[in-house]
This record gives sequence, C-alpha cells and structure tokens, in this order.
Amino acid sequence: MRCLVWVVVLLVLGCAPVTKRIAVDDVAAELEAKKQRELAVQGMYEDRLRLWRVAHRIKTRASALCGDQVSHESGFFPATSFIFGEDFREAAQTALNLTDVIKIVDVQPDSPARKAGLKAGDIPLSFNDWKLPVGKESLKLAAGKYAEIMKSGKSFGVRIMRDGKEEALTINPEKSCDFVVAVSNEDIINAFADGKRVIITRGMLRFAKDDTELALVVSHELAHNAMRHMDARRTNFALGSIFDILAAVYGVNTQGMFGNAAAQIYSQDFEAEADYVGLYMMAHAALDIDNAPNFWRRMAAAHPSSIRTNFTASHPATSHRFVALDKTVQEIRKKQKDGAPLMPEMKDRK
Ligand SMILES: [Zn+2]
Repeated sequence: MRCLVWVVVLLVLGCAPVTKRIAVDDVAAELEAKKQRELAVQGMYEDRLRLWRVAHRIKTRASALCGDQVSHESGFFPATSFIFGEDFREAAQTALNLTDVIKIVDVQPDSPARKAGLKAGDIPLSFNDWKLPVGKESLKLAAGKYAEIMKSGKSFGVRIMRDGKEEALTINPEKSCDFVVAVSNEDIINAFADGKRVIITRGMLRFAKDDTELALVVSHELAHNAMRHMDARRTNFALGSIFDILAAVYGVNTQGMFGNAAAQIYSQDFEAEADYVGLYMMAHAALDIDNAPNFWRRMAAAHPSSIRTNFTASHPATSHRFVALDKTVQEIRKKQKDGAPLMPEMKDRK
C-alpha cells in the first residue's frame, strides 16, 4: 500500500511544471478578464449585425420569391445590454455603450426607416403611441408589438429622442420574406433552415470571406423556407412564442439541432431546389452570383472529412451540383441581359 502511495506521489511530482510560476496580481488579472469580455461582446455584436444586414437585403428585395410567406420590415436594428447574458452585460455597457434602454444601433441604407429619417443612436420612445418599455423584457415586448405592426404593413409613427429632443417620424414599411435569420454561437461551419427561421453558425460567418459569400448561404437557406421544404418533411413544426423569435434574433443555442436534423431532413432534390431558387434570390438582391459554384466547391474542399456530420452532409458536394449551379448562373445572366422577369422556371405540369 505504502509503495503504491509513493508511486502516485512520484507520478504527480514528475508531471508538475519545473520552471518558476510568474506571480500574477489579481487586479491585473481581473482587468484582463474585463478586456477579454469586451472583445467577446464586440465580436458577437459585429457578427449579429453583419448577418442582419445581409439577410435584410435579401429578405426585402427577394420577397417576390417568398410567395405568401411575407410580412414587412422597416430596416432598423434595436439593442439593449440585455441581448447578452449576465456575464457580458457590463462589457456591453462599456464596449458598446448599450444600456437597459432600447437604442437603434443600425439603419439599413435605402430602407423605410432611413427614408423616414431614423438614425443609429436614436432612442425610440413609442410605436404608434404604444410606449416602449425599459429593462430586461423591453426588447421582447417591443419585438411583439413591432411584429404586429409589420404584419399589417401599414405606415406607423415612431417618436424618438435625439440629442435630448423629441421627434416624430413616420415609417412606411416594405414587403419582406417572413423569416427570422439568426446567429448561433457554435464554431462548426453550418447553416440550417427550419421552416420559419434560418440559423447560421459563427463558424460559417468566419468561413464566408465576404458578405456576398455569406449571402449565398443565407439565400440557400431562405430558399428552403420559401419553397416550404420543411413543411414537406415535417408538417407539425410550429413556431414558438415571441420569446423564441427574439431568442433567435439575438442568438440561439441550437442544442445539436444541426447534427441531428440537417443531415437527414433535406433530400438532394430539395438541396438542388434551394441552390436554384437561392441564386434567384441573390439576383433579386442585385448580388453577384458568379462566384457561387466556387464558393460551394471551396466549402466541399475545406471539409472533406466532416462530410457526414457537417454542412456538406445535407449539401452534397457532387459534381452534379456544381454543373447545375453553373447552368443556373447562365440562365439568370441571360434573363438579366434580355430584361426577362427573374423568376425560377417551374416544372411542366401536364
Ligand atoms: Zn440546404
């Protein structure tokens, strides 16, 4: 027994570091932790804004391809410090200047909100005389009210506070595909459409080198929803509460949804259709489609080993796919040249 104890002690000692340990003062360590939380918050925030900008452009400009699955949008992004978890709230205040009061942090160019005169930094006080709340639940409540107004599509009044003065603006919303596009914090390269939402991982945001590449992924996933591929597979999918919608807007934990679902849900026929309609969505949004085949090729090449569990599992890297993408690009280019309507060709129904 004693022998065994000595063996354990020697093993432990043998594994211990042999150089001296630098003395670290707790105050300096806490300052460093604060800095790191601020960097983390900035990264998450920039990713969400980037995806929101790209998705907004496609959802509004390609709304003709979403059939009756449409609502309206104004083109502003609101935030409070509560979009982050408890641990990051202070960092959100110091690094991003977010508080418990809703603030407009971004306004899309050419959007109804921009045309109405709304600017980043404005504090919205009311929508149609409905006073916006303050605090933890404020965004959730405001999102519910906003969704209701957007569904109607009617113009609405927004009172704002700017530089200490109140102003009244009127926004005329524009048509938009009625799908929430959200970031998931996962590092894997993946994207997923569940019928009502599109979820893009931060890993995918990093993989997409620029916003046009990101738009290719977003368009493909929006096309799955627009063509009701999920309905075809899962008729009982129901959209959750407003809370779920909001959670989706500000980042979600997909709990392994990608691995379980993405690999099985869509057949190659649905994938081909999402590629096809997705490229038309890109064209509607006046985004460059020439790089599309290369982008998917790059994805296939970068992740050959993860083919069974990753994005490429449901998005097969077959040579057929690239040839079809190339042909779709040519079809759209020809229509653009001829001034023909940019609508996907339907099958002959004899
Ligand atoms: Zn797909």
